[in-house]
Amino acid sequence: MCLWQIIAGIKLKNFTIMESRRNFLRKAGLLAGSAIIGTKLSGLYGKSLPGIRSSKKLTLRFKPFEVRLKHVFTLAAGSRTTTPVVLTEIGYDGITGYGEASMPPYLGENHDTVINFLNKVDLSRFNDPFLFDDILTYTDSIAPGNYAAKASVDIALHDLAGKLLGQPWYRIWGFNSSETPYTSYTIGIDTPDVVREKTREASGYRMLKVKLGLDSDKEMIETIRSITNTPICVDVNQGWKDREKALEMIHWLDERGVVFIEQPMPKEAVEDMAWLTERSPLPTMADEALQGPADIGKVYGVYDGINIKLMKAGGMRAAHKMISTARSLGMKVMIGCMIESSCAVTAAAQLSPSVDWADLDGNLLINNDLFDGIRIRDGKVTIPERPGIGVIPLEDYYQL
Ligand code: MG
Repeated sequence: MCLWQIIAGIKLKNFTIMESRRNFLRKAGLLAGSAIIGTKLSGLYGKSLPGIRSSKKLTLRFKPFEVRLKHVFTLAAGSRTTTPVVLTEIGYDGITGYGEASMPPYLGENHDTVINFLNKVDLSRFNDPFLFDDILTYTDSIAPGNYAAKASVDIALHDLAGKLLGQPWYRIWGFNSSETPYTSYTIGIDTPDVVREKTREASGYRMLKVKLGLDSDKEMIETIRSITNTPICVDVNQGWKDREKALEMIHWLDERGVVFIEQPMPKEAVEDMAWLTERSPLPTMADEALQGPADIGKVYGVYDGINIKLMKAGGMRAAHKMISTARSLGMKVMIGCMIESSCAVTAAAQLSPSVDWADLDGNLLINNDLFDGIRIRDGKVTIPERPGIGVIPLEDYYQL
């Protein structure tokens, strides 16, 4: 029996038949997308719009999965070896869009909450996958919060629509894929031996992201600096509680090739953060302090920039809005990710040509990835030349 959960009131066709068609489409690649839009464009002056058949409905399927970390991952908030994710598919007219929800424990979502939310999403009421406003406003209205669950629907919908248009999202948005940033590679809090090993593993990267926030902060930086002079960005994950000590530490870090400081103090410490940002020689970036587009006003003037993540924002549509808003306010922007498969990381990569810094290494930290997608070449984000979000499921995906 197929373990995928199927909703929307329509039983999907035999899974094997669906897969065969998918494999065919996969092999056809961009040609398939072009053919679809080419055929439908002939109907522009007639009755139909590109890629839409009014008799077809959207269908949603999803399945829980655990991504496994290569190393135990330690942040100021705790350690873990796996991260729960939920893989989603939105089907339409024989084409499948892929999505993913990733749920690091500190954000409050888990397999049960995501599955519970997705069970309430009835996409069979829609027969036009391009009606993003209608579909995602409906999804938003089902329940507050549930950002990762909502992101998984949003990503799958973007993948589907991009495939129907035959174009990757960076092109639909008008971004230049040769202007992607370098990505940082994350080094979690660990013993000096492990930190040295991880630093050596990261020799191909042009930026290291170092997690601080415990008593070992200076030792972590000194250990890394004993191996490499690669620029470092620091993520404190709210770990510093005293603003005077934080400022002193930022000056110390500034002398050691650190580029910016992410979420140095607790997200509630608004006044302390504004004080710190005013005096800091390095840009300060908000991560835990903001969720989606509506929060940018809260962090403007308190931090120099924002860290956008699809799982926080609720997907690609919200992330795109956040970038536009932050840019119009003159703020710095970085795009990050959770520990997740190449599915969600590649979706985030579509936005990366428009940001200052990328932290898109979540897929590189796991050893059971299920997708081919984003590549890092000479430390630089490389977006696949494929329609949609640009991913292809690996063989293991079909065994789920
Ligand atoms: Mg962070």
